Amino acid sequence: MELISTEFRCNNRCVFCAQDGLSAEKFSKDEMDLIAKVKAACQKDSEIAFVGGEPTLHEGLVAAVSAAKESGAAYILIQTNGRRLAYLSFAQNLKNAGADALDISLQGSTGPMHDYHTQTPGSWAQTILGIKRARETGFRVGISTVITRSNFRHLNEIARLAQRLGAEAFHLSLALPYGRAGKSWARVIPLAEMARPHLTEALNLSKSLGLKTKLGQPSSETKNPLFAGIGPHQRVKLGTVPHSKELGTVPHSRPKPGLRERRGPLKTGMELKELFPEVFTGADIPGGKP
Ligand code: SF4
Repeated sequence: MELISTEFRCNNRCVFCAQDGLSAEKFSKDEMDLIAKVKAACQKDSEIAFVGGEPTLHEGLVAAVSAAKESGAAYILIQTNGRRLAYLSFAQNLKNAGADALDISLQGSTGPMHDYHTQTPGSWAQTILGIKRARETGFRVGISTVITRSNFRHLNEIARLAQRLGAEAFHLSLALPYGRAGKSWARVIPLAEMARPHLTEALNLSKSLGLKTKLGQPSSETKNPLFAGIGPHQRVKLGTVPHSKELGTVPHSRPKPGLRERRGPLKTGMELKELFPEVFTGADIPGGKP
């Protein structure tokens, strides 16, 4: 599968976005430039995935999808936050141009949870409407969720919502310490040990709901035929952090639990009383002893 990057601009500001800080200058906004890129990448029976930033913000996307189709692309997928799909005419134009599938990012099972992650009030309502419009228009839809400290306990609920909305796949990836998540990784990235049971439960539930499941990074350069939840991906082992040379950032890593603290021998009650007498006298409590 060929990945075609449209641009780094996005109308969300996700707390984990690995692309935060990357220059938008890298990409031309010109429709003809995007079409030229597509034609260079496309051959007969190619599988194409448009990725961003947010590809739907590129005004040349519909024309580029048409160009891919005319160049013989057999399967065209767009990775998107789904917001622009809320406009039915846009969804129809994209479908009529020849796009087959959408990999839509959904970061929560409720509006507050999703909008917290995107840092964009109202994004939930547009994304949910976008998913509905996409299904009405005949797109295959996969849902992608990035696992964070704020949603890992809700993966089951997101899986159920994905299925109710008509998605056929649920694609999960762990937030990585690059871009915006790199700046506040302790707040954003969950401990793998805590997330793992929820993840396992969500994957099992998804399978029982008939959703195809994937665990991996949606924008991986791994070019395999069934992209982003609507197909296989390089598996990313929980607890490992691949180094991103491409993004040029140094990943932070967490010490494993148990290595974090060096504990000395336990203190006796008398030793603690000597060290912290006020705790035992109640001198630090307003009004004296409890
Ligand atoms: S993670 Fe995706 S949807 Fe979120 S800000 Fe980055 S590019 Fe946009």
